[in-house]
Amino acid sequence: MTTRDNAIDIVLATASPEAATRGTAAPAGDKAGNAAAGSKTNIFDLDRVSLEDFFENVLGEKRYRAHQVMKWIHHRYVTDFDQMTDLGKALRAKLHEHAEVRAPMVLLEKPSTDGTIKWLIGMDPKNAIEAVYIPDKGRGTLCVSSQVGCALNCTFCSTATQGFNRNLTTAEVIGQVWIAARQLGNLPHQQRKLTNVVMMGMGEPLMNFDNVVRAMSIMRDDLGYGLANKRVTLSTSGLVPQIDQLGQASDVSLAVSLHAPNDALRTELIPLNKKYPIAELMAACQRYVKRKPRSSITFEYTLMKGVNDQPQHARELARLMRQFDNAVQMKDAAKVNLIPFNPFPGTQFERSPEDDIRAFQKLLQDARVLTTVRRTRGDDIDAACGQLKGQVMDRTRRQAEFRKTLAERGIDDAAA
Ligand code: SF4
Repeated sequence: MTTRDNAIDIVLATASPEAATRGTAAPAGDKAGNAAAGSKTNIFDLDRVSLEDFFENVLGEKRYRAHQVMKWIHHRYVTDFDQMTDLGKALRAKLHEHAEVRAPMVLLEKPSTDGTIKWLIGMDPKNAIEAVYIPDKGRGTLCVSSQVGCALNCTFCSTATQGFNRNLTTAEVIGQVWIAARQLGNLPHQQRKLTNVVMMGMGEPLMNFDNVVRAMSIMRDDLGYGLANKRVTLSTSGLVPQIDQLGQASDVSLAVSLHAPNDALRTELIPLNKKYPIAELMAACQRYVKRKPRSSITFEYTLMKGVNDQPQHARELARLMRQFDNAVQMKDAAKVNLIPFNPFPGTQFERSPEDDIRAFQKLLQDARVLTTVRRTRGDDIDAACGQLKGQVMDRTRRQAEFRKTLAERGIDDAAA
């Protein structure tokens, strides 16, 4: 049990509506999460079309009534039907009978000295995930989680050490956006503090396809958070069939966690690469871009000292990116985002030295590959990229294995 885990356990054990930090209470004893509790429909689980269907088919009401309710919830953060004053008394009574508006619960809010804010959000009594808000010049980005833990076991990832429990529901995914927007005082069409959402938190979003796509539809809806397609980004470690499926179902931006320019190295870092090697992944990315003219794909590349940060890696990566641009016949269709590795206790990897990062970027730029370096934010609150951990009731025994590895290396479990 880690020091931070202990702190989280205490919060989970005492969580109540009163204990929640300005959060909405989650029901006690709900094993499967918020959306599954009770027989009422949680309106957070529904996007515009499914809420219109609910109004028409379940409540016997006009479809446009759904729009009023969405505005109350996502624009004004009102969750009590009785405060939705433009709904008649009879409709409010029907809503009380058949529906509820139940967001996940804020357990902890941790601001960083650089303006980043991390929320620990309870999904049920045993599981909590983390969401992070990163303000920057003229934009505010929320990093959202899609699963409790992750099953994919990438060797450099803190979330992977936690094991995997379950997918988040649509309500639990959009609930993170709702919580952040409310805490920030975001006004969707007037005073936007939340301008971008990236599905880059805990979990592989394409392993939770339907719930994530529905939640992203609320993010992009004018009755939801009104974000343009290019401002909602889904990041995947490379599930090829689901990338194709996403191309059919949504118009969001795509980011791919590449992290290595060849199969041998990538398979070591991302075991999924064995199933979907780089050539297949790049072909799926080409299909995604071709389906959506004028779009591009960001390839995320975490730089780890002596592992994937050498000049030959940069040259190999540049070749791969140039091949991609040529295949889709579009300049700068492939962008590279270099991420200096953020170490966490027990990891075998180290951050690349600053000079090596700059040299790697220069080699790519000299090969005319559009390349950025992600600045590390929220380091003091363990909110930097790759550091999210939350609290996972592990169903995969990976936490136990990780702790055994720590013990073998003589690392104090309390530091992890
Ligand atoms: S890097 Fe992403 S896909 Fe890989 S284990 Fe971590 S959360 Fe899962």
